[in-house]
Amino acid sequence: MRLLFCKPFTAIRSGGKRNPMMSDYNYCPLCGGPLAGTYEKGKSYRFCPSGHYTLYPSQSVGAVAVIPDGEGRILLERRAIEPGYGMWALPGGMAEQGESIQACAVREVLEETGLEIEVTKLLDVTGGIRVCTVFYEARLIGGMLTKSAESLELEWFRPEHIPFEQFAFPRHKEQLSRWLNERRTEA
Ligand SMILES: [Zn+2]
Repeated sequence: MRLLFCKPFTAIRSGGKRNPMMSDYNYCPLCGGPLAGTYEKGKSYRFCPSGHYTLYPSQSVGAVAVIPDGEGRILLERRAIEPGYGMWALPGGMAEQGESIQACAVREVLEETGLEIEVTKLLDVTGGIRVCTVFYEARLIGGMLTKSAESLELEWFRPEHIPFEQFAFPRHKEQLSRWLNERRTEA
């Protein structure tokens, strides 16, 4: 989806309970003509009347990782991009076409942190309006901590110092809390 046809994220967030997929894309990304609406099998779709394009209310897929170090600290990044600029998140990002979701986690962590990881466990898969996120646990296998343009900071946090109140995404907070609790129970 070309960004040109997408309203700023703040407009989506301020939209309350309306369906953002139906209201945020008004034009065909191929010819620029206005999209028409249809209702089918209980769901609404928008489509280009010239037959170029149908906007299905689907989700994109992303992957993030809980990465502990040898001392039980967790790697977090403070985001330098929207959504959630200036807030903390687990490192990760969106899958590219043809890429496995595990490979996406490995690539995104390398790009954003300079660290090489190996995925050790699937933690959960959560859906949302736009993004389905796959949460992995991962093991550090190499690399050197290096900040990318997408992060303001990268930091290893002891569990008791994790800035949960400054998390960008509630699901990252939930998943990391659950992971820490389960680990405490196991120990
Ligand atoms: Zn069109």
